Amino acid sequence: MSNQRPVTSSAEDDQLACFAYGVGHGAEGVCLLVQMGPHRILLDCGLEDISPLKAQANLPADVVLCSHAHSDHAKGLLALHQAFPQLPIYASEVTTQLLPLNWTYLPPKEIPGFCQALPWRSPIEFREGLSVQLFPAGHLPGATAFLLTYTSPNRTYRLLYTGDFFISNSRLVEGLSIESLRGTNLDVLIIEGSYGTARHPHRRQQENQLVERIDQALAANRSILLPVPTLGLGQEILMLLRSHHQFTGRNLDIWVDGTVAKGCDAYLELLPHLPPSVQNFARHQPLFWDERVKPRVRRLDEQQRGAIARVTSIVLTDETADLRVYCHPNPTSWTVLRPERLKYPPPTNDLSATDVQTYLLTEHSDCLGTTQLIHNLRPQHIIFVHGSPTYLADLTGLEELQNRYHLHTPSSGTLIELPIGETFIQPAPPPETNYEGELTELGTVVTITLPEAIAADPRWQDFADTGLVEARWQGEELVLRGLSQRELLNQSSSVKMPANIECCANCRHQRGQRCWNAASPLYSFKVTPEGYCPVFEPITPPAET
Ligand SMILES: [Zn+2]
Ligand SMILES: [Zn+2]
Repeated sequence: MSNQRPVTSSAEDDQLACFAYGVGHGAEGVCLLVQMGPHRILLDCGLEDISPLKAQANLPADVVLCSHAHSDHAKGLLALHQAFPQLPIYASEVTTQLLPLNWTYLPPKEIPGFCQALPWRSPIEFREGLSVQLFPAGHLPGATAFLLTYTSPNRTYRLLYTGDFFISNSRLVEGLSIESLRGTNLDVLIIEGSYGTARHPHRRQQENQLVERIDQALAANRSILLPVPTLGLGQEILMLLRSHHQFTGRNLDIWVDGTVAKGCDAYLELLPHLPPSVQNFARHQPLFWDERVKPRVRRLDEQQRGAIARVTSIVLTDETADLRVYCHPNPTSWTVLRPERLKYPPPTNDLSATDVQTYLLTEHSDCLGTTQLIHNLRPQHIIFVHGSPTYLADLTGLEELQNRYHLHTPSSGTLIELPIGETFIQPAPPPETNYEGELTELGTVVTITLPEAIAADPRWQDFADTGLVEARWQGEELVLRGLSQRELLNQSSSVKMPANIECCANCRHQRGQRCWNAASPLYSFKVTPEGYCPVFEPITPPAET
């Protein structure tokens, strides 16, 4: 194919730039126009009002890519399609299925299937010299990080747009794999920085804290109201309530209302795309709607509305809904649990008599995840979007980033030029000192999984010497220490068994931790101090009593 390209090159061929229509500060949506040589790619269209895009004389872009189905990335797409029906719009298959939930106020017939699905991972050359690769980004089923590769007559340029991303696994979506993006040789990274430099407890810990809150409220005979977005958080919480040991089997009613219920229906259609653990769960019981298995999860219809006022229950509804409808007529018997970073300002409804609390159940990476991804990709330019400007400023203030990369935090309506230096030497990654692992509790055993990179440190050899570790508490923290061969030997020889016990430690045939009694079944084997065999002979015969 390359022989079809022009041989002569112009300055435009090697121009990289990004114009921000919307950068996702606060409730504002994300919409970015990336220029790579002659190609113009629109990344997301979360604009409420697309008139800036319509102001163009021609098509506002050559192609549109939608990272995921959340409204701050997608709500302008339908209007964009109506204004420019010939403009191609692409997303992952799951995203194309979830997109219609942005227009639930329209009858489904009136929402055309304007978005074309692209497969995961395989590079697609959708314009000559320009290809795209889709990587699962965690955060929400279908959420995608797009890798754009543009080949000019002089050079190949690579740009990655993360969309919203989350490195950890959640209940219904697996996290973004940094491994799959390593060695990409990236020039430009457009990354979300929603949580700035904040650090979060592990996802599992966040879940347990939320469960604890709910449990306490229920114990006090209070009903619970959870306002959540249409997609993502609500389904995660339902899955949590249905599979957490504190709730399984509990005689409890969970009601789901509004577009959150429609979101659940959409997830059911996606079952083959959800993690294997979820598919397995769904083989034994329905994922959401279930009247038989406790806790019962049901759609809240008009008939049931009266019931929620009488019995202590949990209600999930739209974050934009008027919450008074549910808390009526006894607002004092309700606890409202809001996610800590709600996009919409809390409604001014009179909920004063109601107990309102917040909780953290994140779907975006914290500082550690963000910098980890950056240092693995090592681009020349980084554009931070999404989140409050102060949070983004915290990130660009980090010395470890300032020293290594060109950092940009554009505001809406601005253009960023992205000159790529040929002599640019990719900076060495800073030495990693923190590793993030996963905890799994299986029956009576706890397994801690850590990334392989930890073993590259020269100290690993000593740590892993015997394959045994010593764990001990230090305040709230658990300290792990590798046990050396020598320590192991000392440890076993230092175990003093009481002299009156018939065991290997007190047997005259045990030397150097081995049994030298030919009459013993343990003969020539390594023995433990507390070992026992029928031909035990004491070192010194016990004193006559
Ligand atoms: Zn999102
Ligand atoms: Zn977002």
